[in-house]
Amino acid sequence: MKAGSRARAGIRAVRSSPTGLVAVGIIAIMAILAVIGPVVWGTAASRIDVVSAFAGPSAHHPFGTDRLGENIFLRVLAASRTSLSLAALAAAIGLGIGIPLGAIPSVMGRRVQRSAAAVINGLIAFPGILLALFVNTVIGVGATGAVIGLGTALVPTFARLAQTMSAKVAGLDYVTAARLVGVGRARLVRRHILPNVAEPLLITGAMSLGWSLLGLSALSFLGLGVRPPGYDWGSLLADGLTYVYENPLAALGPGLFIVVASLGFNLLGESISAIASGAAGDRQKRAVTRGRRPVTVVAGPSDGRPALAEPGASPVLKVADLSVTFNTRGGSFTPVKNVSFDVREGEILGLVGESGSGKTMTALALCQLVPYPGVTRHGELAICGKDIRTVPRTEVQHYLGSGMAMVFQDPTNSLNPALRIGTQMAEVAQVHAGTSKAGGLARAAKRLSSVQIASPEFRLAQYPHQLSGGMRQRVAIAMSLMADAKVIIADEPTTALDVSVQHEILRLLRRVNEESGAAILFISHDLAVIASLCDRVLVMYAGQLVEELAASRLQTGPSHPYTRALLRCVPTMSTDRSHPLPAIGGNPPRGDGISTGCPFAPRCERADSRCRQENPVLTGQQGSDRVACWHPYTAADELVSSPG
Ligand code: SF4
Repeated sequence: MKAGSRARAGIRAVRSSPTGLVAVGIIAIMAILAVIGPVVWGTAASRIDVVSAFAGPSAHHPFGTDRLGENIFLRVLAASRTSLSLAALAAAIGLGIGIPLGAIPSVMGRRVQRSAAAVINGLIAFPGILLALFVNTVIGVGATGAVIGLGTALVPTFARLAQTMSAKVAGLDYVTAARLVGVGRARLVRRHILPNVAEPLLITGAMSLGWSLLGLSALSFLGLGVRPPGYDWGSLLADGLTYVYENPLAALGPGLFIVVASLGFNLLGESISAIASGAAGDRQKRAVTRGRRPVTVVAGPSDGRPALAEPGASPVLKVADLSVTFNTRGGSFTPVKNVSFDVREGEILGLVGESGSGKTMTALALCQLVPYPGVTRHGELAICGKDIRTVPRTEVQHYLGSGMAMVFQDPTNSLNPALRIGTQMAEVAQVHAGTSKAGGLARAAKRLSSVQIASPEFRLAQYPHQLSGGMRQRVAIAMSLMADAKVIIADEPTTALDVSVQHEILRLLRRVNEESGAAILFISHDLAVIASLCDRVLVMYAGQLVEELAASRLQTGPSHPYTRALLRCVPTMSTDRSHPLPAIGGNPPRGDGISTGCPFAPRCERADSRCRQENPVLTGQQGSDRVACWHPYTAADELVSSPG
């Protein structure tokens, strides 16, 4: 939705809610008073008439007069601009410092994140008004000190909110994808994080206006804020209190304006919040209506096509001894252990295993995007023969981004909801090739055509929520082609899609592979899908590669008992649907599980005492059939089931 139409929808929603109407009415009146108040009533409000001093309320002086005979009502009207503009300035200071303080660390290293968190925690420990008083006193009594004091007091609120929301958004797939292509930190925050945390910040911002108006009035009331000859609602209230027994309206009048204006800002914040919740509910309902179904077995047997990548083809991605370790207070956990494999030019390599076997963590480690506190270690990690260990540290992400691209499982999280499709696709070309936005958009239109999206120019102008799930995944694939990556890592790209759309996406990936020549590392827990799409397969269990084989060998019989067990779980046309589908008995090891022996031993039908004592290593030449098992099956062993 365009920003203009979004704003119009917001205004319509505010107008349709009684609270919103009251809030808008109050704020409109206050805004008008702030604009015209000093101009229209400024002179009359300062007119001294000692004869009328301390006069009670009348038609001419609705709130009475003060000790100099000045009309209190007119002074309240004329003070609107000072009170509201200073309150807005304080809120702007809070926003201006708090948001960067909270949001920027989300894309920085852990040390910066910790330091920022310590600063925010330290500030939050002070009660807001105490912090405002302290800063006000240090800077000096007067409007400037009061505004800076109140602004400082608002910083922790905005910083904490921005920190929490940004940390959440920074972990989403589209931010990960942007980091992979080498988008800089400032741009990440500006374009990918802040637009997606703007809603709660806007709500808090509206409410903080009310708070800072009250705070400013309180400081002026205490004589720390606006000083004579200037005046605001707070100082008028303090003045009126000195003769409140003779004329209560002298104090109640300014107090009423303070309360009503604060109420207006708070009601506005609540209305925005209610509208946002309603919109989120609608989005959720639409998502439920669309219906995400669980994965269903898609494919039949491998179609016998010739393997695109010959065994001797040079690897575009080569990784040796890749490990990921998480050191936490609860102990150390290594979800990826000494993984070594090649991805050859133009091939589709499958990586299969149960959930939690370490597939996604392997993909993130390849892209150097393992989340904290994970530590990635590897030997060689080379793209097209160039080892990233030889690339300067500051250029690693840019280098990886030009060699690899990722397509994630959930297309909803893969695209930035706040940016048009064209803007986010063009960004990849802008970052990598330094093209202009127009050049990036032209390239994006071509890429959308190549993934069979009709009317690409029209789609480029749309936002992600205007596309179906399948269309979004096509866009994500098209985006992975923007930087001419040599390897596309597709992490369960069909899992969140309907069956019919899964077929389309699998066909599309094959087509992309054939037309662009990019190799694909296809990650899935579904052996049938892997068998239908891939040329070669890696099987992963408990963070280790346990078998590497040609996809065609899945039909003639893999060697590892785990691969065979996975195959038995794949339903075929002859599977009896009146019984539960077969499953592998037992559970994968939790944490680091078994420290000695084969990790599959507790679930393996062939396990013996040696298996329980010694962990077999993957034997065979990298790139050809390999297996990690003391008692592998041979081709002569009967294969109970095959995919499809
Ligand atoms: S090493 Fe032993 S326990 Fe492990 S998969 Fe092979 S036969 Fe089974």
